[in-house]
Amino acid sequence: MSQKSYTLIGAGIMSATLGVFLKELEPDAQITIYERLDKVGAESSDAWNNAGTGHSAFCELNYTPPKEDGTVDISKALKISQAFEVSKQLWAYLQKSGKIRTESPFINDIDHMSFVWGDENIKFLQQRHKQMTQYGMFEDMDYSESHEEIAEWIPLMMKGRDRSEKIAATRMVIGTDVNFGAITRSMIRYLQTQDGVKVYLGHEVDDITRKDDGKWKVDVTDLNEDVEKSNDADFVFVGAGGGALLLLEKSDIPEGRGYGGFPVSGQFLICKNPEVVTKHEAKVYGKAAQGSPPMSVPHLDTRMLNGVRSLLFGPYAAFSTKFLKNGSYMDLPLSIEVHNIWPMLSAGFQNINLTKYLIEQVFQSPEDRFEALQKYYPDAKMEDWELITAGQRVQIIKKDKEEGGVLKFGTEIVSSEDKSLAALLGASPGASTSVSIMIDVLNTCFPEQMKSQSWNDKLKEMIPSYGQSLIEDRELCLSTRAYTTAILKLEDIS
Ligand SMILES: Cc1cc2nc3c(=O)[nH]c(=O)nc-3n(C[C@H](O)[C@H](O)[C@H](O)COP(=O)(O)OP(=O)(O)OC[C@H]3O[C@@H](n4cnc5c(N)ncnc54)[C@H](O)[C@@H]3O)c2cc1C
Repeated sequence: MSQKSYTLIGAGIMSATLGVFLKELEPDAQITIYERLDKVGAESSDAWNNAGTGHSAFCELNYTPPKEDGTVDISKALKISQAFEVSKQLWAYLQKSGKIRTESPFINDIDHMSFVWGDENIKFLQQRHKQMTQYGMFEDMDYSESHEEIAEWIPLMMKGRDRSEKIAATRMVIGTDVNFGAITRSMIRYLQTQDGVKVYLGHEVDDITRKDDGKWKVDVTDLNEDVEKSNDADFVFVGAGGGALLLLEKSDIPEGRGYGGFPVSGQFLICKNPEVVTKHEAKVYGKAAQGSPPMSVPHLDTRMLNGVRSLLFGPYAAFSTKFLKNGSYMDLPLSIEVHNIWPMLSAGFQNINLTKYLIEQVFQSPEDRFEALQKYYPDAKMEDWELITAGQRVQIIKKDKEEGGVLKFGTEIVSSEDKSLAALLGASPGASTSVSIMIDVLNTCFPEQMKSQSWNDKLKEMIPSYGQSLIEDRELCLSTRAYTTAILKLEDIS
């Protein structure tokens, strides 16, 4: 029997993860990866293009919305936290077996904290803490309303703060900062050493068409040589990040109809002044402003990249019609087709608050941005901070029977009926949950193989908790964490 050929479009963390899974599960697999840039992991997955938070739902308040009865819905937080534990297991497997190597650790221990002010927010945080600590996953979460105690945790944020201000914070000391770009590059480097894997950089996929024999013809331009080529594949994964929507439309699969995309770019203030940087060692998430999208939650973070420590504050939203940071201003206009124009218009009408929020953000002055930072770091000095442009997110707009179109903030796998093509749309919670998202792709597109003994045995070797719940099984959650912590050498950076 001839081996199946897999084509993965894009060399970000998603394609890299899927490539690793396919090669480990099927060692003879023929895998071709096309990346339009000259570097691997240089779009959203690159370190400064995202915030590097290992999303475990320890501190992100948008994962735990309040309910009308005064309790908090923690179901999403449990799922995300479990997904991050799954990601750490795959990275630990690859590290332990010497398949990935990075010069400095790609994952570091940084406290994850939530920080709020005002009676209503304090009540919410207290209730959230009460509910979350019922689970093994969150049982070590500390809670405090004491200025003194919080000042021990985050001195930089407390100095210069009004003592009469009512505040509350939670802390998980096992939070992480992750260099997703470094993981992506090391996974692709590993794949490049494997027989049957070809990685083409500077190659842009222009079109994907179904052939009469059921295979996919992938048309590519070698951007450095300006030469057009094509390749046939049994299975195509569109892991093109913001570029996925345009390629999904080109594939012409009926399942892709009714999807549109809305780009939101991010900006961060960063600080490299060692005097400031060494005084803050946490990722501290606050509450998003009224009407703002979930990914706009402000946070003041320690970053630890290639052994160098710095601070990040943001994100500030910006608007551009590009779908990729290195994309074209024509991306948004070219994505509008007859099938998605009504869903896009309907979603626009229903999200006037988001539009208002984006307009306000776009017209912010440097002073406005600085004022937002001062709410978290009262003694901040403007000259210590520099504004950088982060990655581009394309939020999903999806056709909806009742509403016409809805805006979605998560990720979604869209696959052809015969499961020979899958595209990943959306960007949140993102790289942290890339391993679980790629397991979902495998379940969707390879259901029979996923039931086989050989794939199951391999999956359990890679992810020891595979098939079991880390939410319900406290002991398993704690032992799994101990296992990944030891291998990934997660220890305090101070
Ligand atoms: C501002 C911001 C902050 C974020 N913060 C976090 C965070 O703190 N934690 C977290 O877990 N996640 C975070 N994310 C999300 C995370 O960065 C993404 O979910 C993740 O990197 C997506 O990986 P990807 O492989 O799908 O996309 P990408 O990394 O963007 O990779 C897609 C690749 O496809 C290539 N490509 C596109 N079109 C083509 C084509 N036609 N032909 C060939 N190649 C093509 C692109 O060049 C790119 O390299 C953040 C994202 C943003 C924008």
